[in-house]
Amino acid sequence: MSAQLNRVIAHMDLDCFFVSVSRLLHPELNNKPVIVGGGERGVVAACSYETRKFGAHSAMPIKQAKRLCPEAIIVRGDYDAYSSHSDMVHEIICESVPLYERSSIDEFYLDLTGMDRFFGCYKHATELRQRIIRETGLPISFGMSANKTVSKIATDEAKPNNQMQVDCGEEKIFLAPLSVRKIPMVGEKTYTLLRSMGVEKVKTVQEMPVELMERVLGENGTTIWKKANGIDTTAVEPYHEQKSMSTKKLLSRTLLTCNACSTSSLL
Ligand SMILES: [Mg+2]
Repeated sequence: MSAQLNRVIAHMDLDCFFVSVSRLLHPELNNKPVIVGGGERGVVAACSYETRKFGAHSAMPIKQAKRLCPEAIIVRGDYDAYSSHSDMVHEIICESVPLYERSSIDEFYLDLTGMDRFFGCYKHATELRQRIIRETGLPISFGMSANKTVSKIATDEAKPNNQMQVDCGEEKIFLAPLSVRKIPMVGEKTYTLLRSMGVEKVKTVQEMPVELMERVLGENGTTIWKKANGIDTTAVEPYHEQKSMSTKKLLSRTLLTCNACSTSSLL
């Protein structure tokens, strides 16, 4: 456990990645409501903040998103451009951080543990983020804490195009007021179940006995309870040990997830 307390992990996530790359290539899309997706019958692969305001979100059928936000501009995904821009960001991170994990086409976990001996970890991550923005033109956010879960949630809270740090020991306080939906493992089904139990905020899970969570949700319940309490000992998986994580594979995995979500939400 003491090893976990000493870790410093940053989660970096490009903001509305597909939309941002499409805007770089087509600046006329700036500040406009944009939906990236494959044709009228497809699902939304990504949408800009201007479109999300109307309730549209990724994995939603494009038709439905268009109904919510009729002025949205539909853009066909340029997946070669997404791959090459993801690689550009990857190269910068690879040059700057010895231990990192590429967890999706637009997300990275950086293990900065020990780097504070030379310079501040937060300063290092801040400069890295600025460099990525400067050299690629893409907005990116990061969250930093002692573990992967808290950092990922912190990134989400920092967005868009911003950064934040959760100090060691402050994890529970940071998580308490947030919706349980913010815990990465909590999907639609689990959220509905927790809501039916009267659980809305992470604070409530923090106050529940772990046995109750386990009885209701099995092993997942225990993991969710730990995450809610800011406990996560999973390691940053070194990139060179990640199996066949080519950009193309990451991309198709991202798109598959989109389609799977939309299928299950349609059922
Ligand atoms: Mg992203």
